[in-house]
Amino acid sequence: MLKRTLAFIYVGLAAAGLSCGGQKATGPAATEFDAASAYGFVKKQVEFGPRVPGTPAHAACADWFVATLRQWTPDVVVQEFKARAYDGRPLAGKNIIASFNAGAKDRILLCAHWDSRPFADHDPDPANHFKPVMGANDGASGVGVLLEVARCLSLRKPAVGVDILLLDLEDFGEHANWRGSSEDSWGLGAQYWAKNPHNAGYRARFGILLDMVGDSGAMFPMEGTSMSFSPDVVKKVWTVARGLGLSKYFLDRESDPLIDDHLYINRYAGIPTIDIIDYDAGRGGFPSSWHTAGDTLDKIDKKTLEAVGRTVLAVVRQEK
Ligand SMILES: [Zn+2]
Repeated sequence: MLKRTLAFIYVGLAAAGLSCGGQKATGPAATEFDAASAYGFVKKQVEFGPRVPGTPAHAACADWFVATLRQWTPDVVVQEFKARAYDGRPLAGKNIIASFNAGAKDRILLCAHWDSRPFADHDPDPANHFKPVMGANDGASGVGVLLEVARCLSLRKPAVGVDILLLDLEDFGEHANWRGSSEDSWGLGAQYWAKNPHNAGYRARFGILLDMVGDSGAMFPMEGTSMSFSPDVVKKVWTVARGLGLSKYFLDRESDPLIDDHLYINRYAGIPTIDIIDYDAGRGGFPSSWHTAGDTLDKIDKKTLEAVGRTVLAVVRQEK
């Protein structure tokens, strides 16, 4: 994930005050999500090693995703694609899509990137700057939450259609030492999918992207790009989170606009998509483990996975 202020485009898009009534969520949705199970899915990804594109760990993890998702739905698609990195090197990626209630016209899109960053270029120790990131939080946490949501949807069919999109090549953006110019070098899998959805003419009511949702001190702002494209979706999700008593995580304040996979889904697919991402300007931006050798399993807190998972599942369950 990269921060680049798009202020010059979005200044003044301050969203309307988001007063949330916050009805108390009760019933199965409130207890459906199993945090230990989600944590297990994060652990499993990390056990493959860094899922850097082009590595055996990346290939093995993709196969595991497909086998695991096919236990819960027959509608699993692997979208293979080619791309070029910021330095011109050719890349091969795999977006993986699992669909629930495949026949339904009204659909919701849930997504997260699954690849690991090839270099820990924000590590305090320069010796790690060309070593891969384990990506327990940056990659595996969002996917872990979505796999657990998928398991829940396989047990109780959603009223609308739900597509879980695991995006590749999100984190192969330019190295911190790179001096060349490279527009749109992040989110390559999202750029490809948004221009070539797995089903031609694919539409969804809205989308939710998860990125870095596992840290114990996670803070999810009303992220700027989400607020500029889809303030109503931010309000919908934040209202549910507040109703679940999760305001500690889902903050009532906006952040700068960030470049992440949702930008391209909004821009190229026209699906109003928001980003639930751990970012706080006051704290210096992303979690301290971001793009370092310290992005490891010990940083993952089941309670944070649960807060995000219960919120996303409750949003899905309330859609009719
Ligand atoms: Zn990242």
